Amino acid sequence: MMEKLSFNDTIQLNNGVKMPRHGFGVYKLADENRFRTSLEVAAEAGYRLFDTAMFYHNEAYLGNFLASSGMKREDYFVTTKVWNTDQGYDNTLRAFETSLKKLQLDQLDLYLVHWPKQEPFFDTWRALERLYDQGLIRAIGVSNFEAHHLERLMTEANVLPAVDQVETHPHFSNRLLHRYLEELHIAHQAWSPLGRGPLLTSEPLLQEIGDKYGKTPAQVVLRWHLQNNVAIIPKSETPERIRENASIYDFALTGQEIRAIDRLNRGERVSNAPDVIYVRTEPDFQ
Ligand code: NAD
Repeated sequence: MMEKLSFNDTIQLNNGVKMPRHGFGVYKLADENRFRTSLEVAAEAGYRLFDTAMFYHNEAYLGNFLASSGMKREDYFVTTKVWNTDQGYDNTLRAFETSLKKLQLDQLDLYLVHWPKQEPFFDTWRALERLYDQGLIRAIGVSNFEAHHLERLMTEANVLPAVDQVETHPHFSNRLLHRYLEELHIAHQAWSPLGRGPLLTSEPLLQEIGDKYGKTPAQVVLRWHLQNNVAIIPKSETPERIRENASIYDFALTGQEIRAIDRLNRGERVSNAPDVIYVRTEPDFQ
């Protein structure tokens, strides 16, 4: 019998910090009024982890929202990320200061290297380690790091990343990386946990399983992540969907259903492969 999951669950990171397992992603929420409305609905629905990035250009919106939300600081968890063109030791320190100001925080919960870059590679991580040692960040981690990037990082790192936030959904289940992360006690957090939408209508299996429980394909997919020990940060601007994506704690998939969804894997990404960004020298990102 599997342990009962709940929306308030946290996972303990490898440095002891507790991170909500189910958060809210804010990529592409570009208009401040719409941002605020979505965040109000999300907070009301119970979301307490908010995932932004310098690259999303909405850290200031999140800061404004949190400052006026009435939520106590210890009750929410904020993640942001250092962007590719800000990598390097001094640049990262500067970028962090800017992010912290925009977020109106004294201390960040989780800071991630957004993408691995071949050069500079270690300098960026050293800056994160310094900020962590100074107590300005509660946990440091990476995003879009595959096993070989982590292997390289570990040749010089003093602090092991606490989290690897990577693309993960039924068409790109990333199970091999998951097992590797589990061995290292690095938490696996899925970005684009819904595959950005299309797979929800193109895979009849998800609808079939959903019908059995009175749930939507999106709810089935999010529940599949949780039962596979993967943390999630789904994004939506639509109030009903924000609430729908939170309402996944009143049913459980069987082992057979989980394996059937596992078999939908096609190794098909919705965005760039990390190694494309890793070796790219021009500053722009597509
Ligand atoms: P997602 O898989 O969360 O999909 C979001 C889209 O799916 C929505 O825009 C909407 O079109 C659709 N959707 C959402 N809920 C739905 C529902 N209930 N029913 C039907 N359709 C629904 O994709 P995402 O926004 O790319 O990823 C989530 C978060 O992950 C982002 O907001 C961001 O915080 C983070 N992220 C990180 C990286 C990275 O490089 N670290 C990259 C991409 C995203």
